[in-house]
Amino acid sequence: MGIQLTFHICLRLQRTPVLRAAVSGADTTFNWKGLTMDSQYYGRSKQPKKKSIARIIIFLFLLAAVAALSVFSLSQYMAVQAMQDNLDSLEERFKQVEEENEMLWRQYDEIYEENEKLREENKMLRSTTVINHGNRETNKVAITIDDGTGSALMNRTLDYLKEHNVQATLFPMGSWVEREPEAWRRAVDEGHELGNHTYSHAFLTTISEERIREELNRWEEAVEEALGYSYETLFFRPPGMDGFTSQGSRRQQFMDIIAEKGMFTILWDVELVYALRNEAYTPERITRHVLDNARGGSIVLLHFTESDIAALPAILTGLKDRGLEPCSLSELLLADPEA
Ligand SMILES: [Zn+2]
Repeated sequence: MGIQLTFHICLRLQRTPVLRAAVSGADTTFNWKGLTMDSQYYGRSKQPKKKSIARIIIFLFLLAAVAALSVFSLSQYMAVQAMQDNLDSLEERFKQVEEENEMLWRQYDEIYEENEKLREENKMLRSTTVINHGNRETNKVAITIDDGTGSALMNRTLDYLKEHNVQATLFPMGSWVEREPEAWRRAVDEGHELGNHTYSHAFLTTISEERIREELNRWEEAVEEALGYSYETLFFRPPGMDGFTSQGSRRQQFMDIIAEKGMFTILWDVELVYALRNEAYTPERITRHVLDNARGGSIVLLHFTESDIAALPAILTGLKDRGLEPCSLSELLLADPEA
């Protein structure tokens, strides 16, 4: 052991100039037998060990860093890949949506053309049709009330309709709407529909074409003013049925104007003023007449008079008892026969 160590030291001394110098130094207690060793050499002999530990630590640290970087890069790569996939599928979806969009535009064009054709046909239909009743296959009966009244009777009417859960079609003159805007606003708010009955109850045969247009427009203006928005109606009822009692010479002229305004001329098949002209005009008699004559598809004409409105609850109850359904004109005229 001692010989080996000495031999090793001698080798070192010979080879390393630095060590050779150290051996000759004052602080050296090198013994030739090699039993004790130079402190400097001893100290220096420990340095490589420290270095290698440091190297190992650095190496391990670098290894860890490389590993961490690799994991990080891999995760980044995977994230980018996933984003790319998402992007691809989004692009695919975008293309699909674009195609669908184009198809929808084509369909829209077709529908638009179809609509235009129907509009023309509708106009023709309106200008050649006077409606006295709806489809007889339904159990629906339209309740229509004409002219107008003060707010007290008006609100009573709306209360009755509300109690019976019935929506009706009301044909006020524009002047009444102007006078009682709140009551008419309530009517529309509660689901009743309004039809044009001219502004001043003008008899069509007595006025010019220009005045007729004026009467119709003023009605629209009065309703718009009362409701706060423009209101379109499909229905027109000629005051006093004037111009529609027979095939008068101007009837087609009236109907063309009404059709141009997008409306149908609505008459009735159950009315009271003419039917009961020779009888006592009482709520009981009115009720009986309506219930005896109304059937599926009927259009009942009432007026905002004390007697007619007094009869209204009994009329609504009586119709329902007979299996009929009181409703608005829209509900009747758009009714599905199977329903
Ligand atoms: Zn009237």
